[in-house]
Amino acid sequence: MKKWVYLFEEGNKDMRDLLGGKGAGVAEMTNAGLPVPPGFTITTEACNEYFRIGKQFPDSLWDQALAALKTIENKTGKKFGDPGNPLLVSVRSGAKFSMPGMMDTVLNIGLNPDTQAGLAGLTGNPRFAQDAYRRLIQMFGKTVKGIPGEKFEHILNKHKAKTKGKQDTDLTTDRLQDVVKEYKALYTKELGVEFPDDVVEQLRQGIEAVFASWFGKRAVDYRNFSKISHDLGTGVNVQTMVFGNMGDDSATGVAFTRDPATGAKELYGEYLANAQGEDVVAGIRTPKKIVELGDDMPGVYQQFEDVAVRLEKHYRDVQDLEFTVERGKLYMLQTRTGKRTAKAAVKIAVDLAHEGLITKEEAIQRVEPSQINQLLLPRFDDKAKQSGAFLAKGLNASPGAATGVAVFDADTAEAWGKNGKAVILVRPETNPDDVHGMLVAKGILTQRGGATSHAAVVARGLGKPCVAGTEAIRVDDDRKLFSVDGKTITEGDFISIDGSTGEVYAGPIATIEPDFSQETELIELLSWADEIRRLGVWANADYPKDALKAREFGAEGIGLCRTEHMFFEQERLPFVQQMILNASEAQSKLDALARAEADLARRPENKDAKKALAAAKKAAAASPAVKAYKRALARLLPFQRKDFEGIFKAMDGLPVIIRLIDPPLHEFLPSHDDLLVQVTEMRTKGQKGKRLREAERMLAAVESMREMNPMLGLRGIRLGITYPDILKMQVRAIFEAACNMQAKGIQVKPEVMIPLTGHVNELAVSQGALEAVAQQVMQAKGVEVEYKFGTMIEVPRAALTAGEIARYAQFFSFGTNDLTQTTYGYSRDDAEGKFLLRYVEEKVLPANPFQELDRDGVGQLVKMAVEQGRATRADLEVGICGEHGGDPSSIEFCHNAGLNYVSCSPFRVPIARLAAAQAALGAVVRDK
Ligand code: ADP
Ligand code: MG
Ligand code: MG
Repeated sequence: MKKWVYLFEEGNKDMRDLLGGKGAGVAEMTNAGLPVPPGFTITTEACNEYFRIGKQFPDSLWDQALAALKTIENKTGKKFGDPGNPLLVSVRSGAKFSMPGMMDTVLNIGLNPDTQAGLAGLTGNPRFAQDAYRRLIQMFGKTVKGIPGEKFEHILNKHKAKTKGKQDTDLTTDRLQDVVKEYKALYTKELGVEFPDDVVEQLRQGIEAVFASWFGKRAVDYRNFSKISHDLGTGVNVQTMVFGNMGDDSATGVAFTRDPATGAKELYGEYLANAQGEDVVAGIRTPKKIVELGDDMPGVYQQFEDVAVRLEKHYRDVQDLEFTVERGKLYMLQTRTGKRTAKAAVKIAVDLAHEGLITKEEAIQRVEPSQINQLLLPRFDDKAKQSGAFLAKGLNASPGAATGVAVFDADTAEAWGKNGKAVILVRPETNPDDVHGMLVAKGILTQRGGATSHAAVVARGLGKPCVAGTEAIRVDDDRKLFSVDGKTITEGDFISIDGSTGEVYAGPIATIEPDFSQETELIELLSWADEIRRLGVWANADYPKDALKAREFGAEGIGLCRTEHMFFEQERLPFVQQMILNASEAQSKLDALARAEADLARRPENKDAKKALAAAKKAAAASPAVKAYKRALARLLPFQRKDFEGIFKAMDGLPVIIRLIDPPLHEFLPSHDDLLVQVTEMRTKGQKGKRLREAERMLAAVESMREMNPMLGLRGIRLGITYPDILKMQVRAIFEAACNMQAKGIQVKPEVMIPLTGHVNELAVSQGALEAVAQQVMQAKGVEVEYKFGTMIEVPRAALTAGEIARYAQFFSFGTNDLTQTTYGYSRDDAEGKFLLRYVEEKVLPANPFQELDRDGVGQLVKMAVEQGRATRADLEVGICGEHGGDPSSIEFCHNAGLNYVSCSPFRVPIARLAAAQAALGAVVRDK
């Protein structure tokens, strides 16, 4: 016979899978000799079986439960349903991971008019018995039967209003009797049956309701968001009631062993005298601070403090405790790992390690890497937050805090944002048409959509705060307003959103810029992580200021410096455009010249060859395109050199990988559609002259460069081979900068990265010429710098032939964004805009492969490339520079695949340091 039921004595803390967190917790406390009211737990397996066989109790479950109930009766000397000395129980849900407020609990089961009278007589406290009965009807009606809670509240409030003190404690026995009467009438009216007097039936239905709440909408949504599996099931705990509502010597409360907001080492919590169960959390009266219990009930407080210390030592972590005091006697009802803010998580882990309760390794494993992101993002000043007017709470979809004026369409957001206004884009939900507005917005607020909605995904990608799925607000984007609770926010009104908590406020709230150097505990924790991790952590930075930031956060190199960003700067773009517009014609002349030179070199005495060279030289010299091309390159060279000098200086002593130009050139030119409109307008208006001619010329150039699939077209090394002078200019700039800085005593380690290689021959034809430029510069400057040439691995063919490619490349850097695109055959923008989010939501894919590296597909290619590359070149340096470099799961993969480093955005460097250490330590299950 399968064992479905465990007495508390039969369980322990390691049985969370089977008994749920709550069941394992009360079992552990029971066996530790703490005062826990006796009870038993029905297993999570029973819950799963219940659903598997079509919502029925599995065989013998009920018999086992009744047998366990007998044991409880014997232990307590009370009897379930016996008016002489009635046993009352609670039926409490409890899954493996706590899901606060998501699941159901019913108290005081076992009461009917007879047992109520018995209880009244036995305790000499008829008021209490009446109060317990009304609570039973209310909780049972609401959670088991689904009668809206407000209907009960309404009745209760009506009666409270008639008392002098207006509080629930002011309700007399007679009044409570009236409440019970009205509750029962409501129950019958709502359900068409009377409230059950049969206590065994109450118990059965209570257990069933807890099972059913596992698949309640709230619970399912919560699990989806928290990535908790739906097949864990919930345990059901049936426990002897103890009563905090028996008078002023009774109380109920909750407390953390340390402050869950700051991590400070002091009891933190609240209690209410003469109250039961959730009264504290439900806020029916203002609870008192836990320290005040020390004055009210010194003996109990002392005992509770001891229990708290003991449990924290026992579990070696902060505990979140529930307790009840019944006529001066303390009972423990729950212990669980306390949820905490990022700040507290870090402080507590470090403190516990210093106290010797846990090791440094455990401290590292205690903190969720993505959580520490919160410490490094702008957040609301806690004091200022209290001044803001709370509006609603949505999903905390992308962390960080933002204040700005509300705008309701992407175009306005863009226009106002570009004018320097801080805007929050508010939409019913977002789609790819909103992205240009999201780019300039300080934050994003949506009414609909979950944690994987477009708004959430894009905001996280952009590192912007986002509150999504704020169901309480009504967004009317036509009228440019949203309303909530009778309040209306219109375009231009200030609002504030906290993407870390999901809160939305009216009005501006001051934000605090984080200061890493003040985060002493985090710095200490990360220093421990550094001792343990094997993976290096580098950063992606294009500008010296980003490089400095990355270094402050602990980056050990630059894994990706993109040169093309610099091309977009206003003073440079005209030269970039000149370079592009003339490249094709000029390069054909220059290529002819190079060919003629090579030909003559092969047969130095040949007359025709001499003639041909002379002609080619003349043609090149006479070509305006060649002149313009060379002039543009010459103008760009000093800009690039200056950029690189800045980066080298910032990264003194550390490697800097600079990627040569990568995107298709048309990205630097005006859009084809805009130009077409412009030219057509000018023509229809009959305009003539220079401006029209220029526009026409630009249009023709852009037209000639148009590609069906720019992502798969002329870009990366393909571009470099087509227009070699562009790359040579870049390499010259890199090495001039390197030599100049080294001459000034700065230690430079440039690594030149060639993008998008797919065939070894691409390196064979380009790399040598580029290295020659490097050598030339170093010779001319009389300086030797330590350098490398290498390539990105971002198309499958490169990974498949990595052994050949490593003959040339001294390092590999996996560009996993492109590698994911090309492996899946997705264009990321199209995929995320059109179908990918749906794929993730409907679990066609386990995760968005652009956020979490696809180990089975893309990961295979990475592993293969590492192995083959190292077989050719044992000291090959291998890293990753895609967005994945900052994602903890992907970092774990990189560790296992033997990469040398991960490179991520500066703000993710601390996360990566921690994640890399956790990868080295191996997997642990953290409480969710
Ligand atoms: P949740 O998981 O939502 O906290 P619980 O099962 O812990 O739900 O119960 C809700 C409240 O009822 C808690 O305050 C708990 O302490 C209280 N409670 C549960 N069982 C008992 C009991 N047997 N005696 C007294 N109070 C109880
Ligand atoms: Mg609880
Ligand atoms: Mg790429």
